Amino acid sequence: MHFELTETRVREILAEAARRAPSIALPEASAGEPSVVDMAALWLSALPVEELRAAAVARRGPRAADLETFSPLYVTNTCDAECRMCGMRRDNPELERETASPAQVQRQLETLERRGIRAVALLTGEYRRDTRRWAIGLTRDALGRALRLGFRHVLINIGSLAEDELAELLADVPRRADGRIAPRLTLCTFQETYDRETYRRFMGANPDNPRADFERRLGNFDRAAAAGMRAVNPGLLLGLCRDLPYELVSIALHVRHLLARGLEVFVSVPRLRQASGTSNARGLSDDEFVRMVAILSLGFPEAKIVLTTREPAEIQRRVLPMAGVLSAGSSAVAPYTATGARFPLEASQFEVIDQRPFEEILGEYIAQGVRFENYEARAESAGARPRIPREAGLPVSPG
Ligand code: SF4
Repeated sequence: MHFELTETRVREILAEAARRAPSIALPEASAGEPSVVDMAALWLSALPVEELRAAAVARRGPRAADLETFSPLYVTNTCDAECRMCGMRRDNPELERETASPAQVQRQLETLERRGIRAVALLTGEYRRDTRRWAIGLTRDALGRALRLGFRHVLINIGSLAEDELAELLADVPRRADGRIAPRLTLCTFQETYDRETYRRFMGANPDNPRADFERRLGNFDRAAAAGMRAVNPGLLLGLCRDLPYELVSIALHVRHLLARGLEVFVSVPRLRQASGTSNARGLSDDEFVRMVAILSLGFPEAKIVLTTREPAEIQRRVLPMAGVLSAGSSAVAPYTATGARFPLEASQFEVIDQRPFEEILGEYIAQGVRFENYEARAESAGARPRIPREAGLPVSPG
């Protein structure tokens, strides 16, 4: 059961959505899930973004105050791919390359653990077949360390893997009786864009480039499910492709497919940001971003939308009640200190806008009643310095 995406299918859905858009109403909180056609019709409709946002928040109800968090931990910023929008691309001479040693990874995980973080995303670049084994080894080592330290959720973002490579990555991970892996691990593979022409323009077409194969990337989650993984994280890099309805329909079809396979699904829709050695334009407007998150939240109440601190605080506050995860941290290699993090653009994958310590970021929402799974706030940090005033629309839970 592999995911197949054709332009014809997406265009047919968009044509039907265009017919429905003038008369579509906001989904009621108690109604069933909108179809992919409905989601596209909501995008194409004249419904104001704030009404869509209010409907999405209402639909989440009390769950809007129950989120998860994790921090990214880049193990290396090397990469064999050539994605034009990314600071880590192999042909970027301006990036200062770093790879964390196993001892550094251990110290970083211990630092995060001491600061109350119980979930981590392990990241590398993407590699050609011959160097992929090296990256899998680095990640496998870091994964083992995280699990031994008691991290409750580990996300793995290391590019597309073949069946034998997934088996190698997961070789030390305990399995359940049904053969699926026991700990909570999530495989993250963002397609970035589902439009093949845009993909080719940004990710390249050279067969020597491990990222250039659109179909291989699209099939990564199906291979992961076959290897026993239970959770996956597809994503768009908003702003690469200006045909946002096309991107919305495509990721919605992908998420439907993954949910139908019985997988837990996280959905990432980061916006294009500045990176070392590029002049990326701004991805898309704030209202377009909020509209995209609102419609995905309405369409997939059982999936979790991942919001990151690539977004500034004022956008976080608009979007957070529709999201399932707020991830805070740095995109530099081994960046964490006892009280903060390094954010050097010249050694990072991309720019992080909100560079406050995650205690301060999470603490502000905790002070408003939000609970974060996988974060145990220290007494001196949780909600101690709420600088952002409570925003209308962020539900406050009784807890
Ligand atoms: S987006 Fe990923 S695969 Fe592409 S250059 Fe950056 S790190 Fe490498």
